[in-house]
Amino acid sequence: MDPIVTEASVSTPVNFYSLTLEDLKSLLKKFGKEQFRAQQIYKWVYESRITDPEQMTNLSKIFRADLPKILSFELPKVLQHLKSVDGTQKFLFDVGEGKSVEAVLIPSDDRLTLCISSEIGCNMACKFCFTGKQKLQRRLRADEIVGQFMQVNDRLEEGQRISNIVFMGMGEPLDNCEAVFKSIAVLHSPWGMNLSRKRITVSTSGLIPEMWRIADAKVRLAVSLNAPNDEIRSEVMPINKKYPLKDLLDECRRYYKETKDRITFEYVLLKGITDQVEHARMVYKLTKDIPCKINIIPFNEHPGSGYERPSDEQVGIFQKELMDLGAHVLLRRTMGRDIFAACGQLRSAFENHPGQMDISNSKLTRTIKGGKNVTDPSRREPSLR
Ligand code: SAH
Ligand code: SF4
Repeated sequence: MDPIVTEASVSTPVNFYSLTLEDLKSLLKKFGKEQFRAQQIYKWVYESRITDPEQMTNLSKIFRADLPKILSFELPKVLQHLKSVDGTQKFLFDVGEGKSVEAVLIPSDDRLTLCISSEIGCNMACKFCFTGKQKLQRRLRADEIVGQFMQVNDRLEEGQRISNIVFMGMGEPLDNCEAVFKSIAVLHSPWGMNLSRKRITVSTSGLIPEMWRIADAKVRLAVSLNAPNDEIRSEVMPINKKYPLKDLLDECRRYYKETKDRITFEYVLLKGITDQVEHARMVYKLTKDIPCKINIIPFNEHPGSGYERPSDEQVGIFQKELMDLGAHVLLRRTMGRDIFAACGQLRSAFENHPGQMDISNSKLTRTIKGGKNVTDPSRREPSLR
């Protein structure tokens, strides 16, 4: 017969950032604690950014002493933090075993967008993508996804607030649904970071069956179209062989019908391959009956990709053709070129030049309500060298 053991004696602490409020309530219940404590802890952590149980003054002494056995507040460590001249900031996070992922903070006139990663590497193997060159090494846990947000959030300047999140960093979010949608639930929760669902966008290479998870979560869908026909798309995006364009676009039509949410199509311009005027016409034909925006992204070059970025002139010609036909087009400006802000490129830069423009040790102490300065031990930085 098994010896009698208590929960606290057998379990390792659960990472707080992986828990929705409901999850936290259930966990506390398991430990014989009152469930309303979940709100109190959520408030301390997300509102006041206090993670030291000793400072959670409305919890009893015993509860505070027990808390580290139940919860950990560890965040992925910031390995490097780079700031571009254009205001873009790039963060490289340590996710253990010598692996790292990145997030990019992109300011614009009316918003502050954080682009986050969902996986280390990616199995979709898109030919033009730096991340796709590395096979999937590990799916990130929810706390590592929420953790990217929290670390960036903790380093914002006074008065700044992240207004939008896009899952357009490393990895295919729909290949990691459990953690991605858990992290969205935490970030969206009024008890968590209280982000509007309409300001969270999940981008997919087109995993048709999982697309509906985005509708269920009531967040926005972006689809990486990236090519004007099956021949080119299958060449640059192998996933197209499994889910070809017709099926993908039919599903997008159904998706719009069901959700009434305008879809964003991303379209990477590869010189001589997807950037011709006839391609713009084909893209228009493919999408004209789907209420959508087309986000054109000039290819960000990286060594050994075998692809080139089209000239600004060609980008302009492509954009004009689509617009003249009546499409709603956005041209994604390339931000942060000086800090390798293109998909997956910081890691290679970091490996070659550790410490370059590093500001990762700044702003570890910040002012919270009541003017008290708090240095959070879970945010202590690693040594870079
Ligand atoms: N896996 C998801 C989300 C991450 S990739 C997806 O593919 O949608 C986010 C976007 O970056 C995608 O639209 C992808 O086509 C684009 N992208 C990847 N590598 C790029 C590069 N080197 N230059 C420009 N865009 C790139
Ligand atoms: Fe993966 Fe997206 Fe890169 Fe394709 S473009 S390899 S799906 S991260």
